[in-house]
Parts: sequence; structure tokens; C-alpha cells
Amino acid sequence: MKYQKELEVAIQAVRAAANVCRRVQQNLVSADTLEKQDKSPVTVADFAAQAIVCAYLHQAMPLDPVVGEEDSLDLQNHDQAPLRHAVVTHVAEEMEGDLDEAQVMNWIDHGNADATHERFWTLDPIDGTKGFLRGQQYAIALALIEKGEVVLGVLGCPNLNVGEQRGCLLTATTDSQTRIYPLDDVNDQGQVMHIDQLGEASQARFCESVESGHSNQSEAAQIAQLLGIEAQPYRIDSQCKYAAVARNDASIYLRLPTDAAYQEKIWDHAAGKIIVEAAGGQVTDMHGQPLDFSRGRFLDANQGVVATGGGIHQQVVDAIKQVRG
Ligand code: AMP
Ligand code: MG
Repeated sequence: MKYQKELEVAIQAVRAAANVCRRVQQNLVSADTLEKQDKSPVTVADFAAQAIVCAYLHQAMPLDPVVGEEDSLDLQNHDQAPLRHAVVTHVAEEMEGDLDEAQVMNWIDHGNADATHERFWTLDPIDGTKGFLRGQQYAIALALIEKGEVVLGVLGCPNLNVGEQRGCLLTATTDSQTRIYPLDDVNDQGQVMHIDQLGEASQARFCESVESGHSNQSEAAQIAQLLGIEAQPYRIDSQCKYAAVARNDASIYLRLPTDAAYQEKIWDHAAGKIIVEAAGGQVTDMHGQPLDFSRGRFLDANQGVVATGGGIHQQVVDAIKQVRG
């Protein structure tokens, strides 16, 4: 397999980051959170998870750039000393070493590369921070992009259970099918995922954001009605929605802009897209156009996202067009 080494490192990195996220989520206090300039929340765990994933990637593949969501500049304010200290403590606990603050800030900023390289990683250390803060679903999302194509994706979903096991990990590459593993069992060989094909769109259950500001839920309801879907939407934060489609928990993921000017970010979709596609599904924007990862940090040639098992994809895109006009 072409991306064997990359996949092994990415799985280890995501598992390590997930450990820290779980510890922080269990003990979350409001002092662990700050508001970024764009007003979105960010926690100790976002920074710690980015530091850990970057440390693993840097150690194994020092020349690979990483485009991560977080920036240690957001921690540099004098008032943020306690938050910085907490980040360093969590990273040191997971990496089992004596670490100084400068080292941890350097790891975070290893994730500050431009998304213009021929090959680079993209990371959302905690996708769905709002779900994380509510004690609900979130994901650690890591993907490798080469020449504008997503070639590998790993999604850690610490609160999305498989059977009795807490949390799951999904992986896919361009030359391997989507697999699902229990998040914690490093010896489990995992299972190949295939998306069930529906005969009729009306049989589908769709998933969407919990946050009504992130996806237009009333339009989604109209689209569902047009398709004859009676099942209630499955509202779940983060790229766990792509996992839900790959796992057959839902058959459609709809992400419809609430603001025409909003540009989706590559780290919010890269891992999820390949995980759905390598399970036999299809992912496009809401107009049916392929997501274009060759344009930098944003999917600025696209609007919205639709993921399905494939067979009903065009029907869903047509229904979106009809409802949105
Ligand atoms: P979700 O958990 O699917 O609701 O999505 C979480 C992601 O939504 C975050 O990682 C943000 O990058 C992204 N986001 C923030 N604001 C918006 C917005 N106005 N429209 C769409 N996505 C957004
Ligand atoms: Mg995100």
C-alpha cells in the first residue's frame, strides 16, 4: 500500500490526540476556553491536540508541511499564561517527557504552513469544538493532500461508539478502503466499511449540524420533504457526520450555507470526504461540483457540501436546486 507509513503515523497521532481531548472533556472548566478573534471558541485541548499531532508528523516526516487550524499566537497574550501552562501539562502527560513551553508552542506552530505545497497535511485538532464543549460529539481530523487531491484521511471520533466500545477511528487512502477501528484497541484489525445503497431517496435519514448557524436546517427540512423523507434529521457535530454516512447511521449529509459569503475550510472536510468516498459514497458541494482542495486553506470554489452513498446523489442535488431556486 502506497501510504502505509503515513497511515500508521497518522493513526498513532490521532489516537494520542484523542486521549488528551478525552481527559480535557471530562474535566472541562470554563477557564480552559478562550474566544478567538473570529469569536469561535477554542480550548486547551485544541492546542494540545494540534501540538501532539504535529509532533508525531514532524518526527516521522520532518519535511511534510502541516496546515492546522490553530495558531499559538492565540495563546501569546499575557493573560493566557494559565491556559499555556495547561496546554504544556497535557501535552507532556501524553508524550511522557519533560517539555518546556517553547517546545510545545513550536509544535503547535509546525501546523502553520501554507496550503500551497504540492504535498501537505491538514489538521483540525478538534472539529466541532462546540460539541466538545457541550460534552457531545467532536472529531480529530487529519488528512494528507497531494497535488490538490485528498489521498489519506484519519478521523478520530472519541464519543462515537462501535458496539460496546467507546469511540471509533476511521481511515481511508486512495488505494485502501475505508476501515473502522475501536479508538482504543490498538490490536483490533478493524473492519472494511461499505455504504448501503438505497433504492429510494425517501428511505434516507439525513444528518446535519447541531449548530443552526453552520447549516441551514429549515432548507434541509424542505429538501427532505421534497424527497419524501420522513425520518427526523440526525443532528451531530463535526466530521462525525461523514463517519455517520460511512457507517450507515445516516444516508445523506447536508451542509447548506447560512451565509452566502462563508467559505468552508479544507480541514473541516478533507478527512471526511475520502472516508465517505472510499466506502463507496460520493461527496460534492451543494451544486454537485467536486470539492476543490487545490486552492489553499478554503474551499472557495465550492458552496455547501452533500455526501451520500452515491446512488441517490443527483436526486439530492436536484432537490437542493429546486428548494434554493
Ligand atoms: P459542525 O460541527 O458540522 O457544525 O461544524 C463545525 C465547523 O463549522 C467548525 O469547524 C467551523 O470551522 C465551521 N463553521 C463555523 N462557522 C460556520 C458557518 N457560518 N457556516 C458553516 N460552517 C461554519
Ligand atoms: Mg472544524
